Amino acid sequence: MSKATKTIQQALGYQPTQASWFAVTKLLFNQVTAFYFDVVTAHPGLLDLDAQAALTALERLTHVTKDNPHPLMPLSAIAGNIPAMFRRAAIHAALGSAHSFATHLDQWRRRKEQASEKGKKFTQSPPVPPRSWNKSPVLYAGQWKDRASKSILLKLWTGSSWCWVKCRVSGREIPHGWEAGSPHLVQHGMHWWIHTPIEQQMPSPGKVQTQVTTNQDLKICAVDMNLDTHIAVCTIQTVEGTVLSTRFIGEGKETHGLRKRLLGRIARKRGKTGILAEGEQDNVRLWAKVRHLDEQLAHQISHRIVAFAHAYDARILVFEHLGSLRPEKGKYSRRTNSKRSYWLKGRIFAYSKYKAWNAGGIITSRVSPRNTSRDCARCGAPLARYHAGQPAERYSPGAPLVLCVHCGMKGHADRNASIVIGKRLISRYQNQRQEKPHAPLYAERPAKAGGVAGSQDAQREGRPSTNRARHGTSNEQGAAQGEASRMGETSPGIPHPLRPLG
Ligand SMILES: [Zn+2]
Repeated sequence: MSKATKTIQQALGYQPTQASWFAVTKLLFNQVTAFYFDVVTAHPGLLDLDAQAALTALERLTHVTKDNPHPLMPLSAIAGNIPAMFRRAAIHAALGSAHSFATHLDQWRRRKEQASEKGKKFTQSPPVPPRSWNKSPVLYAGQWKDRASKSILLKLWTGSSWCWVKCRVSGREIPHGWEAGSPHLVQHGMHWWIHTPIEQQMPSPGKVQTQVTTNQDLKICAVDMNLDTHIAVCTIQTVEGTVLSTRFIGEGKETHGLRKRLLGRIARKRGKTGILAEGEQDNVRLWAKVRHLDEQLAHQISHRIVAFAHAYDARILVFEHLGSLRPEKGKYSRRTNSKRSYWLKGRIFAYSKYKAWNAGGIITSRVSPRNTSRDCARCGAPLARYHAGQPAERYSPGAPLVLCVHCGMKGHADRNASIVIGKRLISRYQNQRQEKPHAPLYAERPAKAGGVAGSQDAQREGRPSTNRARHGTSNEQGAAQGEASRMGETSPGIPHPLRPLG
C-alpha cells in the first residue's frame, strides 16, 4: 500500500475578544516546548529511545503524580495546569527539534574531523540550539472536539484558565475518504487558521517500467511546456501510440506580458536612482506581485494538467527534462523574464508531481528533451516548422505549425512535441524488451554514445519528494539510442494520430 498526504488549510472565525487567546496559547505551547527541549538536552540519552519510551521517561522526569511526587525537573515550576494532551504535543515537538539539532551537530563534528584528518583549517561554527521558539501549536485529541464541516471547538488558554471556544471554519472541507490528523494552530497575518494534515491509503501504483510493459490498457499523459502561447500542451496516449485527446492549457502570452511589464517598471525605477533599490517599498510590492503571479499560475496550470490526466484515467504523467537555462539576451526585463519563466516550468513540474500522486497515485516521469520539437511524432523525420501563411520549408523556432515532408504529417508544433515526449517514454521500456531494435529510418542525427536510457525519476516509485522544484540538469544531452527507430516503426499507411488543426 502507498499513502497520499496533503494539508487542508481553513480559516477560523471567532469573537474579536478571543483573538488574543490564540496568541497566548501559542506562547504557552512554545514555553512548554522550550522547557522540554532543555530537559532533553540535559538527558541526551533520551534521544536513543523510541518516541513512546522517550515520552514516558520525560513525563517521569517532569510530571507530578501520586506515584511520582518529586520529579527531577518539574514542569509545574514554569507553568501549572497544563492538560496532558497539550503537554504531550509539546514533548513531541521538543523531541523533534532535539533530534534535528543532534543530527546537525553530528554532521558538523564529522565535517570537523574530516578536515582535521586532511590537515585543513576548519572555520565553520557549530550549530546552536534554537534561541527563540515559534512553533505552531499542535492540537491533539482532547484539545479539540465536535469537529463539523463548518465549525470546531478548540480548547484555548486565556492566560488564566482553559476555555472551550467555538470557531467557525471556512475554506476547503476535508475530502471524503481521507483520514485527518491533528490540526495545527497557525497564524496568517492577523488571523488564526487550522492546518490539518490528511492522508489516504491507496494501492501501490507500480513502477513506470512495470506499468508500461505489463498493462496493455495503460494510458499516459504527456506534457510539453512552453511559455509563449500555450503554457502546456497535454496529450493522452495509449501504449500502442494512439492519441486519445489533447488539451491546450493557455494564458502563456498574457502572463508573460504582464510579468514583463512589471519587471520593466522595476527596471525603470532602478534606472532613475542608478542603484539597486531593493529595500524600496514600491519595488518590494512589485516583486511580491511578480512572485504571487508566478506562484498562482504554477498552481493553476499544474492543477489543470493533473485534472486532465485524471479525467482520462492516465496512470503516468510525462514531462521532458528542463535542460539548462540559456537566458535570452536583451534588456533587463527580458532577461529576468526568461529566467523566471524557466523557474516557473520547474515549479509546474514539481506541483504537478505531488498533485498527480495525490490524485490516486499517478506517477510522474521525465524524458530527454532532445529534439522533441524537431522530430516528427509519426515517423521521426526532421520537421519543417513555420508560421501560418508562410511556406513550410525551414525550421523556424517558436513557429506554431509543423509539416513532415517525409510522411506528410501536418499539425500543431507543441502538440507534436507532446506526442514525441509520450512516445519517448514508452519506447524507452519497449526497446529494452526487444532483443534487436529496428534499424532507424532516419539516422542523420547520430545518437550520441552514453545516452540516458532511463532517468532517475522514471526508476523511482512511491511518494514524490517534496523538495523544491529541481532546476533541470544539463547532463541529459544524449538521447536514448534507438528512440528514433521506435518512432519510425509506424508505417505511413496507418492512419496517424496527428490531424492538422484548423
Ligand atoms: Zn513524419
